[in-house]
Amino acid sequence: MTRAKKEITQAGTKIYDRGLVAGTWGNISKRLEEDPKKFAITPSGMDYRKIKEEDIVILNLEGEKKEGERIPSAETPLHAHVYKTREEINAVIHTHSVYASAIACLRENIPPIVEDMVQIVGGGIETAEYELPGTEELAESALRALNHKKAALLANHGVISLGKDVDEAIKVAEIVEKSAKIYLLAEFLGNPKKLDEEEVEKMKEAYRKYGQS
Ligand code: 13P
Ligand code: ZN
Repeated sequence: MTRAKKEITQAGTKIYDRGLVAGTWGNISKRLEEDPKKFAITPSGMDYRKIKEEDIVILNLEGEKKEGERIPSAETPLHAHVYKTREEINAVIHTHSVYASAIACLRENIPPIVEDMVQIVGGGIETAEYELPGTEELAESALRALNHKKAALLANHGVISLGKDVDEAIKVAEIVEKSAKIYLLAEFLGNPKKLDEEEVEKMKEAYRKYGQS
């Protein structure tokens, strides 16, 4: 449990330093290795540079508090729904990164256009139907947009990124923001060509063998 708390506090400073969030918005959670029916999550509205391990809250998958003094993130339903429905996912990061949020304001999708995005996210990135932040409805619409993939945009709001662990969820959040920048730039310059389904499948296959593992 201490490990989850430590990883979350470290991830908080990383996403803050990398400009994926501003102020106290956004949130991070991790499923507990020792009890997969519980997860640890950031406290609501606290400065990432000041959050300490004791500020992290432990909840069950119904979003009920099991440990901690702080009020948990307002996006608890969003995180809980992911852990309930996606067994392979152990970390969730919600950011308000600028370029991805711009596309989310257009309520458009980012088509599959570049290698790293297709490989780590699993295809194009869809924008979920608009729902009020912090609601069960937002959690449901985000899950529909995620489908089996690792990221979705939240209309007029931000991004949800998933990972098998916290490091992967951070990487997904960074790649989503980078893909949003590329897409906006390519649109500005001309008419970006999207990758077809066959190419997407080949890239996903290549990712299974990518790297040192
Ligand atoms: P919390 O500070 O409560 O985690 O919420 C911030 C946010 O981004 C809501 O969508
Ligand atoms: Zn938010």
